[in-house]
Amino acid sequence: MNLRPPPTPRLPPADPYIDGEFRPSAAGERREISCPATGRVLLAVAEAHAEDAQLAVSAARRAFDEGKWANASPRARAAVLESVATLLERDAVRFAELETLDTGKPLAESRDDLAQVADVFRYYAALVRSTGGEVNRAEEGSLSLTLLRPAGVVSMITPWNYPLLQASWKVAPALAAGCCFVLKPSELTPLTTMALAETLAEAGLPDGVANVVTGAGSSVGAALVSDPRVDVVSFTGGIETGRVIARTAADRAARVALELGGKNPNLILADADLEVAADRALDAVFFHAGQVCSAGSRLLADEKVHDELVARISARAARIRLGVGWDPETEMGPLISAAHREKVEGYVRLALAEGARLHLGGDRPADPALVGGAFLLPTVIVDLPSDGRVAREEIFGPVLTVERVRGLDDALARANATDTGLAAGIWTRELRTALRAAERLRFGTVWWNDFHPYFPEAPWGGFKSSGVGRELGRSGLREYQEEQHLYLNADPSPSGAFGGRGP
Ligand code: NAD
Repeated sequence: MNLRPPPTPRLPPADPYIDGEFRPSAAGERREISCPATGRVLLAVAEAHAEDAQLAVSAARRAFDEGKWANASPRARAAVLESVATLLERDAVRFAELETLDTGKPLAESRDDLAQVADVFRYYAALVRSTGGEVNRAEEGSLSLTLLRPAGVVSMITPWNYPLLQASWKVAPALAAGCCFVLKPSELTPLTTMALAETLAEAGLPDGVANVVTGAGSSVGAALVSDPRVDVVSFTGGIETGRVIARTAADRAARVALELGGKNPNLILADADLEVAADRALDAVFFHAGQVCSAGSRLLADEKVHDELVARISARAARIRLGVGWDPETEMGPLISAAHREKVEGYVRLALAEGARLHLGGDRPADPALVGGAFLLPTVIVDLPSDGRVAREEIFGPVLTVERVRGLDDALARANATDTGLAAGIWTRELRTALRAAERLRFGTVWWNDFHPYFPEAPWGGFKSSGVGRELGRSGLREYQEEQHLYLNADPSPSGAFGGRGP
């Protein structure tokens, strides 16, 4: 196969966006950002450090304390969010092409991401206009109000798998709430986040409200978490990084919101519609080459339908077309990097060492046109023991592991036997079986006869080690708000409680 030439969207600025301008980082270092499908360098982006992060926090702190944005009316803030959505839609082709070049995902997936990002801005624009506080019962002649104030300055740290989408789940509600922020994208995929900074500036945000600093987690990220001027730390990424961040934030009792990894079971019971369940099991695990926090990489198949499911899934998986994301024929792109591919391959070896059998894939593609990218063939592993590491740990690649289960109770017990609890799917024709299962599944999202859908209106987040707090929905806005009780006494009178009795 010959590779099609890549698209050539306008590249974003390569310098941090601080206090309303793109300015070089203090040390002037650069990091080359390359396309995971070809290895080609896309842009040399500023490799900022702690001092740049501190400068950005100073700008956000000043902007917040000045109150121009924090005290703007919800209607005025909503108008800016609406403009952001409109500008994103105007530039949809550019954003999608940048995301595909940077992450390797097929253009159709990047286009979907962009549409959802615009939708999230519109959702929070509408929500903040209609979400007030509460009026409580109080003494006669007085009023007790619960008001929702912006939480302050937010540090946002995002991963590489959904760079723009994950950023939008933080930026849109934080801006709606009236917060100011510093955002650090993954050092592997900063392009669309830098382009978002341009869009936010064009939409008319006051200087200092939005800041973006590129660089490593150990320098820029750590500085953003430990800075005492930051009120909220909002992080999406791996569980181990999340634990480090939570520990650091705890030292100064800062609020944290954590969206972490998962090991998401897909339970297919004996009475399921096998044709649809097998088809959607492929979506569940091979979407974005399995690099999805909610990937349904762990199939728990009832023994009565196990063999048929494995046959159906494998026949289709063997035909998945690998390629560069800008080729319309491509169904699955590469992994994010050669180092990540080695990690995924390590899990394939570990599964076999634990006693599982390789049913499909496990190798890199033979096509010489794909050697420049971090590609891995769609892989199906069967007979995975439920008590090993592979059944519990996130693989984050195009690898489906299959365990044989006996009925609902066995499936539920195995599904819950992990430290994480992000998302689970259950396939059965019986609603009452699904409802009983959902009561027992310890996961933040449960899908019945589906896998993956989410909406701005519904909360997203995990039970157990998969996170703290929720993004999207009303809860996603509350992450960036503080409740303030305001007591108004319209009829003050002396209490006489102290020293008022004698002459
Ligand atoms: P990661 O934890 O390696 O990195 C995430 C971000 O944290 C990056 O920007 C990185 O630079 C930064 N970082 C690293 N060390 C840091 C430190 N000490 N202090 C501050 N910041 C630091 O994760 P990743 O490999 O980029 O992303 C993949 C992970 O993200 C997977 O585990 C996936 O499940 C998870 N994820 C979760 C969700 C969700 O909604 N729950 C969504 C997307 C991804």
